[in-house]
Amino acid sequence: MINKKLFFPAVLLAGLLILQSCGTRQNQLQSAMNQPDSNIVKKLKEFVDVKLTTDLTQLTDKEKQMIPILIEVSQIMDELFWEQTLGNKDSLLNSVKDSAVRQFALLNYGPWERLNDNKSFIPSFGEKPKGANFYPKDMTKEEFEKWDNKDKSSQYTLIRRDKDGKLKVVWYHEAYSQLLTKASELLKKAAELAEDQGLRNYFLLRAEALLTDDYFNSDMAWMDMKTNTLDLVVGPIENYEDELFGYKTAYEAHLLVKDKTWSKKLERFSSMLPFLQKELPVDARYKKEKPGSNSDLNAYDILYYAGHGNSGAKTIAINLPNDEQVQMKKGSRRLQLKNAMKAKFENILVPIAKTLIDPAQMNNITFDAFFNNVMFHEVAHGLGIKNTITGKGTVRAALKENYSAFEEAKADVLGLFMVTKLIEKGEIRDIKAEDCYVTYLAGIIRSVRFGAGDSHGKANMMCFNFFEDQHAFTRNPDGTYKVDFEKMKKAMDAWAASVLMMEGDGNYGAATEYLKKNSVVRPELVKDIEKLRSANIPLDINFQQGLQALGLK
Ligand SMILES: [Zn+2]
Repeated sequence: MINKKLFFPAVLLAGLLILQSCGTRQNQLQSAMNQPDSNIVKKLKEFVDVKLTTDLTQLTDKEKQMIPILIEVSQIMDELFWEQTLGNKDSLLNSVKDSAVRQFALLNYGPWERLNDNKSFIPSFGEKPKGANFYPKDMTKEEFEKWDNKDKSSQYTLIRRDKDGKLKVVWYHEAYSQLLTKASELLKKAAELAEDQGLRNYFLLRAEALLTDDYFNSDMAWMDMKTNTLDLVVGPIENYEDELFGYKTAYEAHLLVKDKTWSKKLERFSSMLPFLQKELPVDARYKKEKPGSNSDLNAYDILYYAGHGNSGAKTIAINLPNDEQVQMKKGSRRLQLKNAMKAKFENILVPIAKTLIDPAQMNNITFDAFFNNVMFHEVAHGLGIKNTITGKGTVRAALKENYSAFEEAKADVLGLFMVTKLIEKGEIRDIKAEDCYVTYLAGIIRSVRFGAGDSHGKANMMCFNFFEDQHAFTRNPDGTYKVDFEKMKKAMDAWAASVLMMEGDGNYGAATEYLKKNSVVRPELVKDIEKLRSANIPLDINFQQGLQALGLK
């Protein structure tokens, strides 16, 4: 799963809706006058331009030679995604005279505004079809469901009509054979340059998979690959673009460079999980399991986004593969995109903090603290227990639909707990616990600025409300927030114990009631978040990427 929502939800501001409804009429008027559409110009300004790059000196000559090839593969994925979401990209772009509208269409991969509920911003295009261009536009759900065909639900087939108007399947590798053959050849060329055996093997198998729509072996090879520096997540992967049935996967690419410093850190921290488990501030019964280390967690810098991965809110974390067969055999891998997070931190989180954090604590808002919080959240999922201590089976089974909210809250608070312990132990010297706390608080406010409806949002609010009730932070009369470090530490231990016990007890009724009562965004916070609307905080980042951005051209 590609995570776009975890830290930067892609939901809209109600205010934007109002702008949009008068925008359509304005579009027509403005283009008649042949002037840039001021409404669209305004919308474009909600995206900050950031150059996507990394320290290339860490790469070998061969790796540097691979980059242009892998970018070319990515650009093919981009073309394929246009085909899947819209159909004819050129006819759309040629029909638009206004350069701002054209730019906005490129950013949105079509005439529909992705971060605003897919509202159409080019009047001649109606609503976005729920099935994108995966299905015939005139096909109903009923027609599809009645149709007897074994490959119709495959994640790698398009549904089309034959000459008699009957439905038929067309495999991706047939429909897009020309572009896929080119991408496949380029991957083989990159494989020849690969010095890492695992990467070479993955590229060769992926090159084959693109031409057969059988991705199993290449997914297995991707999980087996451990010592590579470069990575290219490529192919038809996520099914979110198919809003009709959620069957069809969209082409995408993420070109990545592994952060070796973080790899080493994570190895060391994972080895300390048994020590940290013992230190958990809870009764021994709630920490008797051996903690699991999430060894396949790593930090990367991203060099290129393409296709589905570049549409809508920008991805900052990836968790793959989606194939459950592969997951059962090899587990899954989590990739945190550090430079993308930094761009969002600087351009979105810092302005939010400036509006809502006590000015005296602004120097506690740091990217290092932010990134540490994110990484420790992930590692902390491995702490605590997976099975209830009351004979109710696994925590997941006992807490049912509420499990994710508690599990995310656990990872949040135990992440902070880990950082605190490791700083006390002298294992971490480059950041301060105080920075982690204040940055964490600002992060919560940011994550619920568009609402707290999903399990991460609910988890965030349970944490926020618990800390508020324990006076871990106070709200100044002007609506800014200030952390009380002593009380924060105590509240952190108390909250860690509460969550671990709610998980261990597995009492569904009690947990449900707690969640319902404590996951709400309280009126005062709602009011404070209102202030962000007038603070002109960007909606998302628009990455400038490619050979030029990397200084390779
Ligand atoms: Zn999590």
